[in-house]
Amino acid sequence: MLVELSLGSSQENYFHLSFQLFGGDMKTGEHEPFIRDCYDLARQAVQNGDHPFGALLVQDNEVLLKAVNTVNSSQDQTRHAEINLVSEASHLYDPVRLAQFILYTSTEPCAMCTGAIYQAGVTVIVFGCRAQALYDLVDNNLFIPSREILALGQRETMVIGPVLEEEGMQIHRRFWT
Ligand SMILES: [Zn+2]
Repeated sequence: MLVELSLGSSQENYFHLSFQLFGGDMKTGEHEPFIRDCYDLARQAVQNGDHPFGALLVQDNEVLLKAVNTVNSSQDQTRHAEINLVSEASHLYDPVRLAQFILYTSTEPCAMCTGAIYQAGVTVIVFGCRAQALYDLVDNNLFIPSREILALGQRETMVIGPVLEEEGMQIHRRFWT
């Protein structure tokens, strides 16, 4: 399949193949170190005075980019960790490249971030805590599960999670309650 890719399949086929090649065959345990890295970033965000969320972009088990929530420090309510990550990633990589990466995030992405991740071209998302578990703690949310949003997309996006949810929920409970 890799040979087919390098011979220049159409972008649509490329996304479909990437979906199968990058992340889809990994076992849950292989995602855990990266989810723990996201939780470390979430703790770092709190130390910065922001909300407890962090995200990573990974290729072949190598971390390419890291991002934290900067809602308070930037005074911008849209600066969620995943938005910060895909915004920076989009400057560096086109959608065909981004389809080769896995986006890890400490908590299942919200509706805004899920749309941004899709638009950037990412095809595999792995999250730590379910959005529903977070929203049981906090008010004022627009809750649409990321899988429901992505099911409406014209190409497939794989969503894996929850992974190590209880570790992440400890951070949320400390912060929000
Ligand atoms: Zn978000």
